[in-house]
Amino acid sequence: MTHSFNPPVRVLMGPGPSDVHPRILEAMSRPTIGHLDPEFIRMMDEVKTMLQYAFQTNNVLTMPVSAPGSAGMETCFVNLVEPGDEVIVCRNGVFGSRMLENVTRSGGKAIMVDDAWGKAIAPQKLEDALKANPNAKIVAFVHAETSTGALSDAKTLCEIAHQHNCLTIVDSVTSLGGVELRVDDWGIDAIYSGTQKCLSCTPGLSPVSFSEAALETIKSRKTPVQSWFLDLNLVMGYWGENAKRSYHHTAPVNALYALHEALVMLQDEGLENAWQRHARHHQALRAGLEAMGICFIVDEADRLPQLNAVAIPDGVDDAAVRARLLREFGLEIGAGLGEMAGKIWRIGLMGAACSQRNVILCLSALETVLGISGGIAAAAEQYKP
Ligand SMILES: *Cc1c(COP(=O)(O)O)cnc(C)c1O
Repeated sequence: MTHSFNPPVRVLMGPGPSDVHPRILEAMSRPTIGHLDPEFIRMMDEVKTMLQYAFQTNNVLTMPVSAPGSAGMETCFVNLVEPGDEVIVCRNGVFGSRMLENVTRSGGKAIMVDDAWGKAIAPQKLEDALKANPNAKIVAFVHAETSTGALSDAKTLCEIAHQHNCLTIVDSVTSLGGVELRVDDWGIDAIYSGTQKCLSCTPGLSPVSFSEAALETIKSRKTPVQSWFLDLNLVMGYWGENAKRSYHHTAPVNALYALHEALVMLQDEGLENAWQRHARHHQALRAGLEAMGICFIVDEADRLPQLNAVAIPDGVDDAAVRARLLREFGLEIGAGLGEMAGKIWRIGLMGAACSQRNVILCLSALETVLGISGGIAAAAEQYKP
């Protein structure tokens, strides 16, 4: 006999998913209604409006793709890239390589601008690449590299791209709701995110937004989008402004209740307050980790508050420590990804998981498991009024 699955209670301080607030889980359990029900459509409109707030955009085409962040990434590339198009991809971690994969599979030609893992993308390198490749049509980069904890200067990168008449595709899966992000002010043309990082919602949806210029490019394509499901020309019939709301696919109804609730919570807190909360708890965690002799791998100016990438101390067994944190404290922290595997831990402070309680729990658990003290005291110092 197989019984119901009852997951253990965990504290999620990895690279995502992050802790989901009980309000969001409760919203998800409300009765399922038809995805063409007028009440559901009213809720969809509210989701769109609140996503515009989260992204700081007036873009009409702002909506959640019915699949995780990776599908939002693919939506941007398959709709904007046509066979033969030159796309400059800035890469400073795992997710830049996924962009390369998307460009190639869309028939485009990727021009890679590489930076070391753990570094922000160097604007000068992008400038040089654009000068050397005057036919480039798109510049793509990751705002917050979750594999390394590095934040890049999206505003400057977009400015440079526009000076060379390129559209921009920006990965904001980890940045949305955690650090400053202004789609319209910064001139981002296509952006995708995810629900399970700083929005603290359940995994499985990908908010996206497209500028007028991006929409024009999509409408004037010479070739059809090779993905039927992600073709925005079709999706717009369901999610679009004044759309007849014709059937395209069955929306994940309850998942959208969850996103709606997450966005209400973001609105209640205030976007800038959410950014500040991430910065404040990051500073406390940082003080604690450094007091324990644990070092960040990213330069201070480029650190993501919501994803703290630190070097695993010499002689420490990575897997054994993470297993003990999970078993003894119910605490999940992230392992290194790609070339960082075995070298770093990624400690997330995302969304609802970004709290004083969690900072202290994490430091206390690490003090116990590593047998080092001083972390909690240093963090507490930061929290003094
Ligand atoms: C998590 C993440 C993704 C992928 O999102 P999924 O929801 O796992 O598909 C893409 N880009 C970045 C930067 C991420 O952190």
